[in-house]
Amino acid sequence: MKPFRSLSEQGNFFSDPGISIMPSGLIFDVKKYAINDGPGIRLTVFFKGCPLCCAWCHNPESISSRIQKMYNGDRCIGCMACIEACPESGCRLTPTGIITDPRRCTCCGTCADVCPTRASEMSGRIATVADLVAIAEKERVFFEQSGGGVTISGGEPLLQPDFLVSLLGELGLRSIHRTVDTTGFARSELLLKVAQRTELFLYDLKMMDSRRHKQWTGVDNGRILENLRLLASTGACINIRMPLIKGVNDDELNIEQTASFVASLPGAKKKVNILPYHNIAQGKYLRLGEKHDSSAMAEPSVEALTDAVAVFAAFGLEAIVGG
Ligand code: SF4
Ligand code: SF4
Ligand code: SF4
Repeated sequence: MKPFRSLSEQGNFFSDPGISIMPSGLIFDVKKYAINDGPGIRLTVFFKGCPLCCAWCHNPESISSRIQKMYNGDRCIGCMACIEACPESGCRLTPTGIITDPRRCTCCGTCADVCPTRASEMSGRIATVADLVAIAEKERVFFEQSGGGVTISGGEPLLQPDFLVSLLGELGLRSIHRTVDTTGFARSELLLKVAQRTELFLYDLKMMDSRRHKQWTGVDNGRILENLRLLASTGACINIRMPLIKGVNDDELNIEQTASFVASLPGAKKKVNILPYHNIAQGKYLRLGEKHDSSAMAEPSVEALTDAVAVFAAFGLEAIVGG
């Protein structure tokens, strides 16, 4: 297991936006044959680390900018291999399974390496631009046949700017279509720099009321909305993605305000993907050892989704559920 660097060590988007050579970064997954992350068949690379902490996040392991240990008690056979292998004496067996002492654990990954059942796993690994380009090259035939390419998602890709820009540059040199899935919560200068190397943005819009946005995601939406307008003014190709969560952002006023804002953006009309919330991440929070209260959130009804599509249509926008 290679040593990891936290984002504070790597530099983040609030640091000088000048881009230096940074050929590696922290990712938590690479998904082949993705069909919902942009046009065609795609390779999706998930960067680890997000400046938001949305209450409904489907990938809670994407939020931390550090490698994390995950433990699945259902898979544990109590073999004690992790206890014997841990160089920090950080694991112990209890009647409810393995407990990891966070004060001792350095996230070295040894316990995951020796675990025979993948009950212990690590989330996050360092990948180089060269690694990812090599994986993408192997998918080229699928990209060419389907009009696909590579999507950089997260987490928030712009939280690792040097890695992102370097990867986009290398993909561009190889004429591979590039999509960036972003929260828009980043320095404007950086977003514009990324836009020079990106064919399509998937831009998340969660809710229009700034106070509620902060309540549910941890940040207000001023920077996000300003950046979206700025990006649109450059002629960038942008698809809007709106998660729809009953009890959070499914009220008529929010959907109308969102549709009105999107319709007012400069440039070509933006397509909108409405992404219904599903309560599927509870197991991941458990495996991370985090408490998660989803009681205030629910899946939207089919009727609510249909109504939302109709509101966007009333503002002259093409909206679809999913995608
Ligand atoms: S912006 Fe996306 S990745 Fe980040 S916390 Fe929200 S849902 Fe999760
Ligand atoms: S990740 Fe390393 S330090 Fe942490 S519990 Fe596993 S073996 Fe021990
Ligand atoms: S090595 Fe894996 S299966 Fe064995 S006790 Fe540890 S977590 Fe459980």
